[in-house]
Amino acid sequence: MSINWLARAVPQTSGLYPYVPGKPVETLLREKGLSRAVKLASNENPYGPSPKAIAAMQHAAAGVNRYPDGDANLLKDALASFHHVNRDQLLLGNGSNEVLDILIRTFAGAGDEVVFSSRGFIVYALAAQAAGATSVSVPEADGLTHDLEAMAHAVNEKTKVVCVANPNNPTGTLHGNDRLQDFLDSLPRDVVVIIDEAYYEFVADTQGDSVHDLSHPGLVISRTFSKAYGLAGCRVGYAIADAEITALANRYREPFNLNLLAQVAAVAALDDREWVMARVAENNQERQRLESALDGLGLLGGRCFGNFVLLRHAQCGELLRSFEDRGIIPRPLAPYGMADYLRISVGTADENNEFLQMLNVILAELQE
Ligand SMILES: *Cc1c(COP(=O)(O)O)cnc(C)c1O
Repeated sequence: MSINWLARAVPQTSGLYPYVPGKPVETLLREKGLSRAVKLASNENPYGPSPKAIAAMQHAAAGVNRYPDGDANLLKDALASFHHVNRDQLLLGNGSNEVLDILIRTFAGAGDEVVFSSRGFIVYALAAQAAGATSVSVPEADGLTHDLEAMAHAVNEKTKVVCVANPNNPTGTLHGNDRLQDFLDSLPRDVVVIIDEAYYEFVADTQGDSVHDLSHPGLVISRTFSKAYGLAGCRVGYAIADAEITALANRYREPFNLNLLAQVAAVAALDDREWVMARVAENNQERQRLESALDGLGLLGGRCFGNFVLLRHAQCGELLRSFEDRGIIPRPLAPYGMADYLRISVGTADENNEFLQMLNVILAELQE
């Protein structure tokens, strides 16, 4: 008799599905017998990491026989001084993904509710499910933008955590800090509100300093080195919150969750301001170029504020297959109930040209 392991697993396991990432280049090459492919599926920085981060990792590589600093002291010092916050307000994670997961596990369990936007970042639902908490998914007003009023209405005495992605992934929408502050003011003081700012750097010039401009006792600002800083493969994210909140969350943190190379890379990347600012400027210019091109074709799915654009077309399944056949990997949004959308990460100028050229060829084919 085989063992029914699902029946042995914790009850929430049956409703839990693994996160489906963007298709890796190697997978597509193998599937299609191609020799090269361009991945525009995971909102990565297409320019590579800062050369200073690469040098720091090369320098540190010979020391990986030792455990990393479990408190990531150098990185915490750097982040505390960068953000003008105390070190004990920081919670570091193996990507901000882990930060979100730790925070949700700290505050929400069986019988508790976690509120998020239905087309918000998918990890909130996964983390809530894994914690055994109940997900409360609030529809967007226009299909794309977080409906903050409806989200506030969804909060009740069972609500422990509210997650807002700003800018949101995958819909790319952004709320200004004034609207967010009104939202925070409408919530009970003891609800943890995570403002997930994975794409903050791309809107920093207009968004202001959310760490200091927003206020709420349970406010958590989450940031990552995966997008603008170009360190997605290193897995470094962090949150800034009240020191009592981070102290509780730290009890759930695995002791060496930030590996040694990740720590030195993040310190070097944070220090290389010129590099980050240049990449952000380049991204924003290229994003506008992609959006105008899509708009010209009548395919613009909405205005986006991160490092990706939305393409809307009735035959996204065919489009996806045609792109992949030609070695371009977009991200299908069917898992978000957006079957007529593809999310395209902004690539280098060359990659974006290649994408637009292929799009025109594929559209012509579809019309035949
Ligand atoms: C990419 C992303 C993250 C997580 O990135 P990490 O690599 O885990 O730091 C978090 N939130 C949103 C909205 C994202 O798009």
